[in-house]
Amino acid sequence: MLRGLRVVRGPDWKHDNQDGGHDHVGTVVAEQGDNTVKVNWDMGDSSICKAEDGNHELKIFDSASIGVTHPNIACVGCEEVCILGTLWKCSTCQNTNLCSLCYHDDKHDATHTFLRIDFPGTEPRSGKRRNS
Ligand SMILES: [Zn+2]
Ligand SMILES: [Zn+2]
Repeated sequence: MLRGLRVVRGPDWKHDNQDGGHDHVGTVVAEQGDNTVKVNWDMGDSSICKAEDGNHELKIFDSASIGVTHPNIACVGCEEVCILGTLWKCSTCQNTNLCSLCYHDDKHDATHTFLRIDFPGTEPRSGKRRNS
């Protein structure tokens, strides 16, 4: 189950700047069989990447996998309290937060700009939705 995993490009990356450049983070949004996954990049397009052993197009960058949570912050998409991993905050509406899966499912208003907070207490970084 890779869906929702946060990833960066790995040493075998061969998709040019689809990810928006080096060190940009994306989210696995679908497993497509044949050991490939679809990744939506925060600042770029989406890519279909190999995700098999020995082929390192992707590296896991997941604050959720190292146990980062945003306590007492509820996702307006799935109503999960205590968001795991990356938190997405609407910069248009007050108190509107999404988890990564809901963000990439286009929950809330897709025309609104979101800020990304990977770790609680860090500066929010701006993100860009696929179709905004
Ligand atoms: Zn959610
Ligand atoms: Zn909003």
